[in-house]
Amino acid sequence: MNTLYLILFFIFGLIIGSFCNVVAFRRSKNESIIYPRSHCPNCNHTLSPIELIPVFSYLIQKGRCKHCKEKISVFYPINEILTAVLFMISYYVLGFSWNLVLAIVLSTFFVIVVVTDLNYYIIPDEITIFYSIVILIINAFRFGTTSYKYLIYGLIMFLFMYLLMKIGNLLFKQESLGGGDIKLLFALGLTQPLITSFFAIALACFIALPISGYFYFKKKDKIIPFGPFLIIAFLILLLLNIEPTSLYNFLFPTI
Ligand SMILES: [Zn+2]
Repeated sequence: MNTLYLILFFIFGLIIGSFCNVVAFRRSKNESIIYPRSHCPNCNHTLSPIELIPVFSYLIQKGRCKHCKEKISVFYPINEILTAVLFMISYYVLGFSWNLVLAIVLSTFFVIVVVTDLNYYIIPDEITIFYSIVILIINAFRFGTTSYKYLIYGLIMFLFMYLLMKIGNLLFKQESLGGGDIKLLFALGLTQPLITSFFAIALACFIALPISGYFYFKKKDKIIPFGPFLIIAFLILLLLNIEPTSLYNFLFPTI
């Protein structure tokens, strides 16, 4: 394992994480991603190159805009570091491979959805569509001629989630799952064999349970975004790289 590459992936992650912030915060507010240049959302002052350096600019400015002194969301530096750490772990675990490309793509997807889903309770459709297309392209390299199977897996996961929502709505007489989560499951379902995807959903629930419990009791917040948990569960299973057959044997042990 090359330490230089680890450092490079960390720096690469900081830069990409900073771009993910721009995409997430602008899409949440329906602004264009490309134009205008990065600016303070409060006073519209265009950021200078120094103010664009990930994490460090936040620390130097003590978390406030240089011009209007408005507080900058702590999500900015946290997301940048989060992306950098995920990039570094992905490289460390997977080495140079198509799975590494996919892990990096899922890391950025995660960071964007954390912002949009946690702050605004949405996963913008064009974000999910963009990632679905990117994953389909990566699949063509990962699996060659058998990549069409994964398109079917994605569609099955979509239908499964849709049925789950319908049943949930009947049982709880209210919105149980967001439409964004169902579309998200299509994109994520493209990445793994079916059994791994079902396992990922279970893992997502397992991670979400204590956190949503905290939100429910401490903040009396009834809407708990599920999207970030789904993506991180799929990313964890990709990094663990468990064979579908061993998952099957784990779930249905032969006596
Ligand atoms: Zn400002």
